[in-house]
Amino acid sequence: MSNVLILADFVSGKATKTNAELATAGARIGEVTAVVLAPAGKGAAMASEINKGPVSKVVIVESDAFVNNGVAAVADVLAQIIAAQSPAAVLIASHAFGKEVAARTAVKSGSGIITDAVDVSSDVTATQLVFGGSTTVHSKVSHGTPIITVRPNSIDAQTAAATPAVETLSLQVSDASKKATVTSSQPPVQGGRPELTEANIVVSGGRGTNGDFSAVEGFADSLGAAVGASRAATDAGWYPHSYQVGQTGKTVSPQLYVACGISGAIQHRAGMQTSKTIVVINKDPEAPLFEIADFGVVGDLFAVLPKATEGVKARKS
Ligand SMILES: Cc1cc2nc3c(=O)[nH]c(=O)nc-3n(C[C@H](O)[C@H](O)[C@H](O)COP(=O)(O)OP(=O)(O)OC[C@H]3O[C@@H](n4cnc5c(N)ncnc54)[C@H](O)[C@@H]3O)c2cc1C
Repeated sequence: MSNVLILADFVSGKATKTNAELATAGARIGEVTAVVLAPAGKGAAMASEINKGPVSKVVIVESDAFVNNGVAAVADVLAQIIAAQSPAAVLIASHAFGKEVAARTAVKSGSGIITDAVDVSSDVTATQLVFGGSTTVHSKVSHGTPIITVRPNSIDAQTAAATPAVETLSLQVSDASKKATVTSSQPPVQGGRPELTEANIVVSGGRGTNGDFSAVEGFADSLGAAVGASRAATDAGWYPHSYQVGQTGKTVSPQLYVACGISGAIQHRAGMQTSKTIVVINKDPEAPLFEIADFGVVGDLFAVLPKATEGVKARKS
């Protein structure tokens, strides 16, 4: 059976649920090996978190260069593993870090790359949604090892507990990959809410909030959701740019996306229209976002959201 590598995904040292999604996609192609690239002494602890989804084996490589030299060191070692194992495919989470690792690894291993896949089939065909989600593209890498980045939340993960075999490899990061050094980094401020690109539910606010996100945040918290924002809201300084959803912000694909006071410009849709269920709250019945809504509420968000929040809380208690 062919071997598929997934690059184990961690945020601030914690394994993300994207790992199970990558493993589920990988298992359609072959036996899944998760590659854990860890700082010295942290490999075993990090590998123990890769215990969900169909992972057959975990390979650990330890080096402080993964922290000190970032993507260059990660791509260097990943390319060495590809050269040694000739996997049928390599799957990586499709966020900024993952895409840069994928690009560098593709160059190093002389391979083709596909980014932002929303699905991968057993014959390593990737599905992408392009032009703001209006066009579906199926493509295959024709040269080298297919290196594919997969959008978080796109694949229904098998999350049954796994007991993968664990192997530690002794590989060196080349001096060429240590030329740029990370001098400092700050973990993202989570504020207790889930990470935007990973969240199952996202509640977003736009210009309709008029700068007051309290109703949006209250509803998000009642659902355990992440908060997002339109560019109108982030450009106005009402919400940090790191929460912007859309073409020039983050791409999200949650089970439920609730848009509050957002008109539905094409640039906003580009970042959210692959959400499984879309709920739109807008006081203008002609707002374009209603066109792609599964459920729409024509009303003032400051009246609708507190009622919805009360309703959710009442059902929980
Ligand atoms: C190159 C480029 C890239 C861009 N990238 C992005 C991007 O990544 N993300 C993004 O979002 N935008 C992006 N934009 C901007 C985009 O074109 C829109 O300007 C923006 O999305 C509008 O945000 P909005 O829907 O919040 O505001 P508006 O379009 O002003 O809509 C506000 C909506 O709120 C409703 N409303 C007002 N008050 C209430 C209320 N009390 N209750 C309920 N509804 C109310 C109104 O009816 C209206 O529909 C980009 C633009 C360009 C040119």
